[in-house]
Amino acid sequence: MTDADLVEKCKGLDFVAWRGGVPVFEIQGDGWNEVLWKYLELMGRYASELEVVVSIQQIKEKFGGLRLYYELSGVPSTTGFQIAQDALDMLVLRAERECSTTCEYCGARCFDNPASVKGWVHKVCKACLVTLGAAS
Ligand SMILES: [Zn+2]
Repeated sequence: MTDADLVEKCKGLDFVAWRGGVPVFEIQGDGWNEVLWKYLELMGRYASELEVVVSIQQIKEKFGGLRLYYELSGVPSTTGFQIAQDALDMLVLRAERECSTTCEYCGARCFDNPASVKGWVHKVCKACLVTLGAAS
């Protein structure tokens, strides 16, 4: 997945950082894509329904976990900032939790602890660890 893919598929969301030339998406494999699409689509739908602006700042993997940062703005007074933020935070939390049991490379269910791949910690299943040549 690339930043361009993100912008193309997530039309309900804003990518301010991307337009500024800053890479938004920093994940090695494609294993989390399905989870990401599901939750980004939901975030886009919430943004439309709540009539708010959700700017995706960064989506990355850190220490084998998903990190998704966004900024909320343009919240109508009838909605309430806290209600909108709670709804979006819940989606981010669920996406992070789902990725915590999904191999970052192949998308298989994976309950192993994050492991080192070429010196970096990733959420990786045993099969991918062997394929990547990082098994110890
Ligand atoms: Zn895998």
